[in-house]
Amino acid sequence: MLNLSLKQLSDSLAAKQVSSVEMTRFFLDRIAKHNDELNAFITVDEEKTLAQAAAADARIAKGDVAPLTGIPVAHKDIFCARGWLTTCASKMLSNFIAPYDAHVISRFNDAGAVMLGKTNMDEFAMGSSNETSFYGPVKNPWDMTRVPGGSSGGSAAAVAARIAPVATATDTGGSIRQPAALTGLTGLKPTYGLVSRYGMIAFASSLDQGGVLSKSAEDAALVLNVMAGFDARDSTSIEHAPEDYTRDLRSTSADPAQPLAGLRVGVVKEHFGAGLSADVGGPVQAALEQFRKLGATLVDVSTPSAKLAVPAYYVIAPAEASSNLSRFDGARYGHRAADYRDLAEMYSKSRAEGFGSEVKRRILIGAYVLSHGYYDAYYVKAQKIRRLIANDFAAAFAQCDIVVGPTSPTVAFPLGAKASDPVQMYLNDIYTIPANLAGLPAMSIPCGFGEHGLPVGLHMVGNYFAEAQMLNIAHQYQLATDWHARAPEGV
Ligand code: GLN
Repeated sequence: MLNLSLKQLSDSLAAKQVSSVEMTRFFLDRIAKHNDELNAFITVDEEKTLAQAAAADARIAKGDVAPLTGIPVAHKDIFCARGWLTTCASKMLSNFIAPYDAHVISRFNDAGAVMLGKTNMDEFAMGSSNETSFYGPVKNPWDMTRVPGGSSGGSAAAVAARIAPVATATDTGGSIRQPAALTGLTGLKPTYGLVSRYGMIAFASSLDQGGVLSKSAEDAALVLNVMAGFDARDSTSIEHAPEDYTRDLRSTSADPAQPLAGLRVGVVKEHFGAGLSADVGGPVQAALEQFRKLGATLVDVSTPSAKLAVPAYYVIAPAEASSNLSRFDGARYGHRAADYRDLAEMYSKSRAEGFGSEVKRRILIGAYVLSHGYYDAYYVKAQKIRRLIANDFAAAFAQCDIVVGPTSPTVAFPLGAKASDPVQMYLNDIYTIPANLAGLPAMSIPCGFGEHGLPVGLHMVGNYFAEAQMLNIAHQYQLATDWHARAPEGV
């Protein structure tokens, strides 16, 4: 069961070769065996999970099956799930039992999927290494002394270590794609607004988007079918007609050897300059060559404003975070300080105790850039840069169908290596942040190995709502290569 695709798992359930309870037990046992070391899950509740699996078996017995019915799915601990501890990896929410389901969670419940547990992450999704979690760092299953990337490090480590068949995640500046790259997974961040943010604890609302970490593009397509969809409770949810994201997973040309014939792949030249580690650049170049072999044409594109993406992001994201996180004040839910003299001190002590230092840094930056006198200099300027970046992509998509480059400048780095240098940490997302600022769908797929035998990710950005096409491009690449099928040894 370890390496089976979601389709294969689903077929084996439908054929009654295995029950959902047995399948779920198998993954729960793997979690019990490996989680102490990996620290990928914050919460596991075998009783609740097995009850869902038993309910799925009853559905299967009645023939009431959807593609994910009975399949165990791990969820990033940013999604509220009724009756489950939902912490966002913060001390602030370390006692918070969610009273309702996020839209994403109810979609999985409706599909009959089984909730395997809540995965570790950077606190409030702020980080690129999963080291800011109140619950401690997550280890990379390829090398336990290294980070799995972040902020969705727990989801990534769980799928990479095959202790979960698939996991949900969220991406504000790269938090699905960068951990996918660092752990050898396929990671998909959909078009902004395609997946509802209702019940997904907010970090930077204009950038946050739910998505998936999986072993393959085919698996990601099946999961996106469940996650995507309009939700009136999220005012930025888009009324986009439902699509079957698996429909295009086929060759688009008459020549079977050239399944990507006619496809124009835009190569962002700025992404191959200084700052890109050679051991990452090599596999990415080889992947471009592979696209050519599959029939695609490579074209050079330029995104000149992308160099401003990290600074603009670190104005916009903290600004929105400082506003979103003002709700955590110890009054209604979450951590409250034990001793205080008055209301103001209750707020300040609860927040001082409940938030970790990276979260505090973001709140301070956000409050500063939004303050009178600095608003125009920082916040308004950053919004203008955001427009320039979106314009760059629009110009690129006049020349090509998909934009590609590396996902992360380096392979997974050692735990602690960048923890005391925020700027170095922020630069991890230099290639991924532009897609968030523009609201475009983007993916990372495994394309080889770099230094120390660690996975390398290829980044792809599609045009708005081009998920089905992008998934097929990734699928054709995965049919021709086996990087995505490699799993770490020892777990
Ligand atoms: N690493 C980036 C940050 O810390 C992105 C995080 C994310 O996508 N949630 O803000």
